[in-house]
Amino acid sequence: MNIIFLGAPGAGKGTQAENASRRYGIPALSTGVILRDAIKNGTDMGKAADSYVSAGKLVPDDIVINIIRERLTQEDCANGFILDGFPRTVPQAEALEAMNVRIDAVINIEVGDDNIVSRMSGRRSCPSCGATYHIEYKPSADTVHCDNCKAELNMRHDDKPEVVLSRLKTYHEQTAPLIGYYSSRAKLKTVIGQIKVEDTTALTFRALDEFDLPEAKN
Ligand code: ADP
Ligand code: ZN
Repeated sequence: MNIIFLGAPGAGKGTQAENASRRYGIPALSTGVILRDAIKNGTDMGKAADSYVSAGKLVPDDIVINIIRERLTQEDCANGFILDGFPRTVPQAEALEAMNVRIDAVINIEVGDDNIVSRMSGRRSCPSCGATYHIEYKPSADTVHCDNCKAELNMRHDDKPEVVLSRLKTYHEQTAPLIGYYSSRAKLKTVIGQIKVEDTTALTFRALDEFDLPEAKN
């Protein structure tokens, strides 16, 4: 089963993609995590992507399409996968269709722009495994270290308010049209992001249950 999570930056789609990954026992693939890893490791792809990510702009379609095309051929995707942060433009969605990837469900997590900027200022992430936290809404056990790997959490460079505004503009111009794209294919359900993560999780699972998907494993 293949699921897409859509939503503005900071709407919480990464967190819900991880929840759904555990629920169905299939991997969550985040283009943001893959790009940040490549940038950190200084690969050619990372060097090509760096200036776009730091400016809050989208990385060119051909780069991310190639990332996903390659990632989907890996063994752990055989029983399905969850896409977090891809597609982010209509051409990316068309490329997925051209790869003959069947999409079973799209969950659109909606959070107003005014809430996004304040949410982002509290967001923290693990430089080692990419896990995401929020100092108020989703703290790690001791609030400063990752629960998985104990690395010290930090703030993403592109979560600074001036970059967040650019990311929001990009979202409205290039990603929001995907809501219509998948609605017209009768695949999309919208979940309103709640203040408490567990409330959003409950709504997300309820929305997923309205699709005709295989049984949850967890
Ligand atoms: P968020 O959803 O909070 O914006 P992500 O980690 O998904 O965070 O993305 C971070 C950045 O990585 C984006 O601002 C963009 O520069 C780049 N990026 C991620 N996914 C894509 C994509 N599918 N197409 C183009 N750029 C992408
Ligand atoms: Zn970690």
